Amino acid sequence: MIPSLPGLRRALGLSLGLLVAACTHQPSPEPLPRPSQPEAASGWQAKPGWQLQRQAVAAANPLAAEAGRQILAAGGSALDAAIAVQMVLGLVEPQSSGLGGGAFLLHWDGQRLDAWDGRETAPQAADEALFLTAEGRPMAFMEAVVGGRAVGVPGVLKMLEAAHRAHGRLPWATLFAPAIELAEQGFAVSPRLHQLLAADAHLRRDPAAAAFYYRADGSPLPVGHVLRNPALAAVLRDIARDGSAAFYRGAVARDIVRRVRQHPGNPGRLQLADLQGYRPLRREALCQLWLAQYRVCGFPPPSSGLITQMQILGLLEQLPKPVPPLEDGRPSAEFLHRYSEAAKLAFADRAQYLADPDFVAPPAGDWRSLLAPAYLKQRASLIGERSMANASHGVPGGAPLAWAPQADQEEYGTSHISIVDARGNALAMTSSIEQAFGARLLSDGGSGLPGGFLLNNQLTDFALAPRDDQGRPVANRVEPGKRPRSSMSPTLVFDAKGGRLLASLGAPGGAGIIHFNAKTLLGLYQWQLDAQRAIDLPNFTNFNGPTVLEAGRFPPATLDALRARGHQVSEGELPSGLQAIQRNARGWFGGADPRREGVVLGE
Ligand code: GLU
Repeated sequence: MIPSLPGLRRALGLSLGLLVAACTHQPSPEPLPRPSQPEAASGWQAKPGWQLQRQAVAAANPLAAEAGRQILAAGGSALDAAIAVQMVLGLVEPQSSGLGGGAFLLHWDGQRLDAWDGRETAPQAADEALFLTAEGRPMAFMEAVVGGRAVGVPGVLKMLEAAHRAHGRLPWATLFAPAIELAEQGFAVSPRLHQLLAADAHLRRDPAAAAFYYRADGSPLPVGHVLRNPALAAVLRDIARDGSAAFYRGAVARDIVRRVRQHPGNPGRLQLADLQGYRPLRREALCQLWLAQYRVCGFPPPSSGLITQMQILGLLEQLPKPVPPLEDGRPSAEFLHRYSEAAKLAFADRAQYLADPDFVAPPAGDWRSLLAPAYLKQRASLIGERSMANASHGVPGGAPLAWAPQADQEEYGTSHISIVDARGNALAMTSSIEQAFGARLLSDGGSGLPGGFLLNNQLTDFALAPRDDQGRPVANRVEPGKRPRSSMSPTLVFDAKGGRLLASLGAPGGAGIIHFNAKTLLGLYQWQLDAQRAIDLPNFTNFNGPTVLEAGRFPPATLDALRARGHQVSEGELPSGLQAIQRNARGWFGGADPRREGVVLGE
């Protein structure tokens, strides 16, 4: 299953050998029909789970995980490895993340927990009408996505650079060697990349992307095709040498701006000054006590991830009866009923309150009001024996109702990385260009060479409709310089008493991330499964509307039992892409999602 990587190993050996030496240092709106998957499914490949002793890298592609493993083996820190992994992911899994996107990184150095925010920002020239048509109606989702309009200022690179200053051990340039070598020598197109290229109707409309990812007859590059990316190699070389300035200024920045502003059908408003002015932020992580024993930590707003996933788990904990055990290895109808009801309540609050904290005040002055036990208890009392259909938001801490709730909206291309190193550092990082293939704009960095990196469409994570019928603003509407609300939820779990790190996990999947993470946490700590078995559990989602179950994974009796309680139930593919590393008696045990191409490597 793991391809042999002699070329990469040779390349890394060489590059690292040369470079390592220098190292020192109200009612909710009607939910829209929701497509079942953020990125299309590409099949199921059983994964064994990986037992490691000292250090581990979990990533969505074997070449990326291998780059991280080698950086760790060369004495790099978890953060060093994450940079190498991210740079390779941008090459081999271009549909999901890369230089043109943003990321949230949760980092633990053994003592201190940091939430590094590399989320995209809205350009200064953007305003709340960005996604409104001339008639004042919100654009159709894909109309908004494809082109320059939804491109936010990319944040991942500058965030990683800032985090490297704080947590890196190897020199910056070293960390780019694996991706540069692979970009120059070529990598084999994976089955998943091939399938997503085949399925995508929009990428081929970008001339640069069409020439690079498709053949002259319009067919996608076949599985195993050795793809070189000289344009990306050139950009990475410049960044390795000159730092993030090589991306945020000069020819690369000019090329990004030109492609965004000159898109023929759907131009955007990005300017050079937006790129030059991008600032990553170091935020305080949010942590929540769960099941009395665990401190579950994650990203504060602008992500809704931790708050919503812990609201769901906290609501379940407040219910009088304990969470039912698995039945035949699957969550029971009784559990799914309660879970769906809790999810509806949590997603109603998410739609009402969650947005960039630099623009929007938290309810009752503190985001933790949404997780306060008394509030959760009161909300949990709304869960009965029958389905409530749709939930309305609550009023935590008596917060006044300033906002209109955001209508349900699609959220989609993302990748998760979990790493632990032998020195006690650990991280969870979720990285995204939003949709699969983002805005469908490929930048060659101005080099004129084939290939490059894709630009994000992260601004469609803002509400497309900024106000409700009464003119009340939605908290998560577009404003200049604002970060769109996210669902990305890199998560670290600690022992509440001793403070030891127990697990690192996360997933792609748009708003589904919240459910995929919640499922994995329940699997690990409520049902006592190992990380692989927890990830393997069938997926289930509810976004304050229908309950969606992973197709073919639940018996008809489960669907019938839910319908009998009043649930609208459907089946969908729900291809999650989870990655998790958990501490066990022998060291670290890693799991990767059988629904995608991830592996866990280490020693
Ligand atoms: N854009 C989404 C977010 O930030 C992630 C999309 C995905 O996971 O596919 O929440």
